[in-house]
Amino acid sequence: MSDEHFPVPPEVIRRLAGEQGVLNVFGTISLAYLLTPSGEVLVHDDAEGVTTAATVDEREFAYVRAAARYPELQVLTPVRPPDAVDCPACRGTGSVPLENGSRVFCGTAQCNSRGWIRP
Ligand SMILES: [Zn+2]
Repeated sequence: MSDEHFPVPPEVIRRLAGEQGVLNVFGTISLAYLLTPSGEVLVHDDAEGVTTAATVDEREFAYVRAAARYPELQVLTPVRPPDAVDCPACRGTGSVPLENGSRVFCGTAQCNSRGWIRP
């Protein structure tokens, strides 16, 4: 999948990795989602120059994106409840196609790139 890009400068990621031992699991326009060794998620906002603890939704999003990049981290992802339904926006895949043929994560709040919606 080609929906990942890391516009936050590599030297910033390297500095944070060295200081806090984090793994860069996903990036957006100016955000980097960083997984700590304890499983917490930090969000680095390069435009603001700040790193903060992730919200519950940001942490879940980072876990799902991390598992897409590192399959061994699948254990972090939320378990799909038996009565959950496939997200209609991404048809259960967690990503949506672009006109150029690449895919990007499903950004609907109910899905949060999981591919399913909680009942
Ligand atoms: Zn979706």
